Amino acid sequence: MVENKLVHSPLITYGSMLSLLSFTPPFVILMWYTNVHADGSILKTFNHLRENGLQGLIDIWPKPTAIAGKLIICYALFEAALQLLLPGKTVEGPISPTGHRPVYKVYGSYAIHNYVFFSVSFRFGIFNPAIVYDHLGEIFSTLIFGSLVFCVLLYIKGHVAPSSTDSGSSGNIIVDFYWGMELYPRIGKHFDIKVFTNCRFGMMSWAVLAVTYCIKQHEEYGRVSDSMLVNTILMLVYVTKFFWWEAGYWNTMDIAHDRAGFYICWGCLVWVPSIYTSPGMYLVKQPVNLGLQLSLYILVAGLLCIYINYDCDRQRQEFRRTNGKCTVWGKTPSKIVAAYTTTSGEKKTSLLLTSGWWGLARHFHYVPEILAAFFWSVPALFNHFIPYFYVIFLIILLLDRAKRDDDRCKAKYGKYWKLYCEKVPYRVIPGIY
Ligand code: NDP
Repeated sequence: MVENKLVHSPLITYGSMLSLLSFTPPFVILMWYTNVHADGSILKTFNHLRENGLQGLIDIWPKPTAIAGKLIICYALFEAALQLLLPGKTVEGPISPTGHRPVYKVYGSYAIHNYVFFSVSFRFGIFNPAIVYDHLGEIFSTLIFGSLVFCVLLYIKGHVAPSSTDSGSSGNIIVDFYWGMELYPRIGKHFDIKVFTNCRFGMMSWAVLAVTYCIKQHEEYGRVSDSMLVNTILMLVYVTKFFWWEAGYWNTMDIAHDRAGFYICWGCLVWVPSIYTSPGMYLVKQPVNLGLQLSLYILVAGLLCIYINYDCDRQRQEFRRTNGKCTVWGKTPSKIVAAYTTTSGEKKTSLLLTSGWWGLARHFHYVPEILAAFFWSVPALFNHFIPYFYVIFLIILLLDRAKRDDDRCKAKYGKYWKLYCEKVPYRVIPGIY
C-alpha cells in the first residue's frame, strides 16, 4: 500500500473541498431549475431564493422518485452489462506509481449502446426518451444522493478491500473521501469502477441527454431549431471522438493519476450529465433561430476545434506508442528522454514530446477543448448567462488541471521536466500563459 500522496491543487484546499462537497449538489438542482422552470434566467432563480431563503431551495428540490430510480438503475445495469459482457481487444494502461500496469478491454460499446437506445426508442417505440427530460429534476436528485452513497462505499472499499497496491490513505477523512483512496478500484478482476463511472455512465449519459433534449424540443414546438441542432451535433461529435479514442483515455490524468473519490466519480455520475449537457438543457425551452449561414459558421468552427483537440491527444499517444519512432507534422519528433523512479524504487524512463502541438505549449490541447465548448454553447446567443456556465467552469477546471499536472510532472521527472519547461515555456496559451 502506498501513501495517498496526491499533488493537490492549491485551489482545492480543505476549505474549498468542503465547499465543493456542500455546494455542488444544490448547484445541480439550481442549474436544472433555472433552465427548465425559470426561462434560463439566473435572476429569476436568484429572486426566488432571495424571497424564500433556504425554504425556497427545499421547495424546488425534487424528491427522488421510483420512476427516476428505475430509469437510472435500468441505464446503469445496461451499461454495466455492456462493459462486462462484450468481447473486446485487450489494451494496457500506463505504469502506475507503484509499477503496476492495468489492463483494459476496448470494444464498440458506444455503437452498440446507441443502436439499442435508438431501436428501443424509435424503431420499436418501447420507450419515449422525452420522459427523461420530464423527470430530469427527480433524476438529478436521485443521482445526487445515490452517487454520494456510492462514494462512501468507494471510501470503505479503499480501506477494507483495495483492488491493487495503488491505493492508500492520506490520514485525513476529507481528503480520502474527496480525492479517493484507490487509483484502479475493481469489482472482481475485470469490472473497472472508473471505466464504469467515467466512460459508461458519465460520457454515455452526455450523448443520451443531448439527443433527449432535441426530442423534447421537437415534442414541445413541433420542430428542432437550428441552434439546438448545432449544439447537439457538436456535443455528439465530441462524445463520439471520446469513444473513438477511448484507449487513449486510459493514459490521461482522470484514469492514470486521479483516484476514485468524490472528485472524479461523483463528478462523472452527476456533474457530467447535469452541467456538461446544460447548454442543450437551456435550448429546449429557449430555442434560438440562427439562420443557415451562422449555424454553418459555428458548426465548422466547433468541428475544427474538436478535431484539433483529438489530434493533440492522438499525437501524444502515437508518439508514446511508437516510442518516438513516428512523424509529427511530417518530421521526426523532437523529444526528451525523462528518467524517473517509481515509489517502489524502480528506475524507468518516459518520452516527452517537444514538437507538434506539444511544442506550442505544455497543455495546448486545453485551448481547442475550451473553444469547442464555447462553440456548442454560443448557439444560445447572448440572451442569458446560464448556457455559458459550462465554458467558464471548464476554463477554471483546465487551468487548475494544467497547474496540477505541471506540479505532478515536476515531482516525477525533476530536471527533465525543467528542461521541457525551458524548451516549451508556455503552460497553455502560446505567447500568453
Ligand atoms: P493529458 O492527456 O494531457 O495527460 C497528461 C499526462 O501526459 C501528463 O501527466 C504526463 O503523464 C503526460 N505528458 C505530459 N506532457 C507530455 C509530453 N510533452 N509528451 C508526452 N507525454 C506528456 O491530460 P488530460 O487528462 O488533462 O487530458 C486528456 C484529454 O481530456 C484532453 O483532450 C483534454 O482536453 C480532455 N479533458 C476534458 C475535460 C472536460 O471536463 N471536458 C477535463 C480534462 C481533460 P506521464 O506521467 O505519463 O508522463
